[in-house]
Amino acid sequence: MKHIYQPGAFGLSIEIFPPRTEQGDASLFENLHRLRAYNPAFISCTYGAGGSTQTRTVELCERIQQELDTPATAHLTCVGSTVDDLCDWLAFASSRSIRNIMALRGDPPQGSHEFQSVAGGLDHASELVSLIRRQVPEMGIGVAGYPEKHPEAVDAKSDLDFLKRKVDAGADAVFTQLFYVNDNFLRFRDAYHAAGISIPLIPGIMPITSYARIKRITGMCQAIFPNELASRLEHVQDDDAAQFEIGVDYAIAQCRELMDAGVPGLHFYVLNRSDACERILDALNLHPAH
Ligand SMILES: Cc1cc2nc3c(=O)[nH]c(=O)nc-3n(C[C@H](O)[C@H](O)[C@H](O)COP(=O)(O)OP(=O)(O)OC[C@H]3O[C@@H](n4cnc5c(N)ncnc54)[C@H](O)[C@@H]3O)c2cc1C
Repeated sequence: MKHIYQPGAFGLSIEIFPPRTEQGDASLFENLHRLRAYNPAFISCTYGAGGSTQTRTVELCERIQQELDTPATAHLTCVGSTVDDLCDWLAFASSRSIRNIMALRGDPPQGSHEFQSVAGGLDHASELVSLIRRQVPEMGIGVAGYPEKHPEAVDAKSDLDFLKRKVDAGADAVFTQLFYVNDNFLRFRDAYHAAGISIPLIPGIMPITSYARIKRITGMCQAIFPNELASRLEHVQDDDAAQFEIGVDYAIAQCRELMDAGVPGLHFYVLNRSDACERILDALNLHPAH
C-alpha cells in the first residue's frame, strides 16, 4: 500500500470475501480473472467475523497473487484473538508473501452493540496498527474510515480523532465504509485534511445489484441511503435486471463525481461478482485498453 498511492497514480482496488464452497471459489476466480483486465492496484480479502476465515483469508490472498499476478491485501481483525494469536497470524501471512494488511477491530458479535476483546487481546484498530508496525515494519497497512460516522462513535469529531490515532500509529492509507451521498464523503475529506491527515483517503463504493440485499447491508453498517434512489428501486422491486441497471447508473455517476473531485483511487466492494464493476469501470474509461 505504501507504494500503491503515488501522486498521479490512480489506485483501483477490489474487495472480496472468502466463499464458503468450492463452487464459490471457482466462481470467484472466474470473476477475478475478468476484473484483472482492469489492472487493479490490489485485491483485498476480508477476514470472517469470529475469526472463522483466518487462514482462508491468507490462503486466498496467496492464490490471488500467484494466479492473477496482482498484489493482495489480507484483512485482519482483533475479534477473538490474543496478541500472541495476532503475532502468529502475522508471521503466517508474511511467510505466504502477504505484504499488505487491512487492519480492523471487527464488529461486536451479532445481537450485541458492544465490542468485547478477549483477555490478552486488543480493543481498537489503532492498537492493531501499532502491533503490525512493530512485528512487520515493512508491511503496507490500510485502515477503515467512516464518512457518515462509525455507528458506535459518539460524534463525528471523536471518530475522526480515533481515525487519526490509527494514522499516527503507522497506517499508509484509509479506505472508507460504503456510502451513497458524495457530499458526506467530501465534507469528511475536508475535516480529515483539517485534522492534519495527509495519507491517501480512498472512497469505498458498493454497486447496488439487488435492492433487498443493499437494504440489509446499509441497515447493518448504517450508511445513509438517499430517498430518491430508494423510491426508484422500490418501483422496480420485482425486476432484478432493472435494479441492476439503476445501481450501475448510480455508481457511474457517483464515481465520476468523486474522480472529478480528485480522489486518489476507488475501492470497490464487489460482493464476489464482476459484472456491475466491469460496466462501471468501462463507463469511467478505467479499462487499461482505453
Ligand atoms: C474498508 C473496510 C474493510 C473492512 N473489512 C472487514 C473485515 O474483513 N472483517 C470484519 O469483520 N470487518 C470488516 N470491516 C468492518 C469493521 O470491522 C467494523 O466497521 C468495526 O465495527 C470497526 O472497525 P475499525 O477498524 O474501524 O475499528 P476502530 O478504528 O477501532 O473503531 C471502532 C469504534 O471505536 C471507536 N474508537 C476507536 N479508538 C478508540 C479509543 N481509543 N477509545 C474509544 N473509542 C475508540 C471509533 O470511534 C469507532 O466508533 C471493514 C470495514 C471497512 C470500512
